[in-house]
Amino acid sequence: MVVTLKKAVRKRGVLMLKRAIAVIGPPAVGKTTLTMQLGQVPGRQIFRLREHVPKTILAATATSAEQLGWIDDITVTRALQGYIESVVSDDTTHIVLLDNFPGNDTQAQLLLSILHKSAPVCVVTVVELAADAATIQSRVRERRVCHRCERDPIHDPRLPAVPNPADQRRCSRCNSVLHPRRGDAPRLLRARIQRYERAAISIREAFAGVGIEILQLESNRPPEHTACELTTRLAIRSTPS
Ligand SMILES: [Zn+2]
Repeated sequence: MVVTLKKAVRKRGVLMLKRAIAVIGPPAVGKTTLTMQLGQVPGRQIFRLREHVPKTILAATATSAEQLGWIDDITVTRALQGYIESVVSDDTTHIVLLDNFPGNDTQAQLLLSILHKSAPVCVVTVVELAADAATIQSRVRERRVCHRCERDPIHDPRLPAVPNPADQRRCSRCNSVLHPRRGDAPRLLRARIQRYERAAISIREAFAGVGIEILQLESNRPPEHTACELTTRLAIRSTPS
C-alpha cells in the first residue's frame, strides 16, 4: 500500500522536483554564469528555452530584427511542458534553474500553471539580478562565445567561453578564436535591454499576483559571490518551519 502510494506520488513529481528557481535580469547581468555555477550540484538541471525549441523556429526568429530571437507562446508552451514533464518523471532532479525565463508575464503564468499541474509541491523562487550600467557594459565588452565548443543550431552561441590564459583571444578548451555574442552588437543590445525593462514590470506583477516575492540580487560582484549569497538566502528560506 505504502509502495503504491509512493509510486503514485512520485509519478506526480511530488518527491523529486522540489524547487524551480527562475533567474531573470537584463542582458549581461550574469544569469547564465549564475545558473551554471548553481547547476553544477548533482540533482540540479538548467532550463534554457532555446535548447528545447525546434531549429526551424529558432532560425525564423533570428532573421527578424524586430523579434530579437523572441519565441511565440505556443512553442514556449510545448517546450516548457515537455521539459517539466521529463524532469518530473526522471526522478533524479530536485531543482530546476531557469536561465533567463520567464521572458514576459505570459511565460510567467505558463510556468506557474505547468508546475502546478505536474509538480504541485514544487516551490517557485524568482531571482532578479541587477548590476549597474558600467558593469553591464564592461561584461558585454569582455564576454566571448566559442562556436566550436557550443554547437548552436543556428550558429548563435550564448554560453560564456573561458579564454585561454596564455592567449585571451582563444578558447581554453579547444583553442579556437573566440567571438562576441551576436546579440551584443550595440543596437541589438540596446533593444534587448529596453525589452527587458518593459517585460520586467509585468513579470513582477504576475508573480506578485500569486504571492511570490521576487528576490532582488545585486550582481556587480564576482559571480561566485552572487551564487554564494543566493545559496545562503535560499537555504534560510527553505528551512522547514
Ligand atoms: Zn572552444
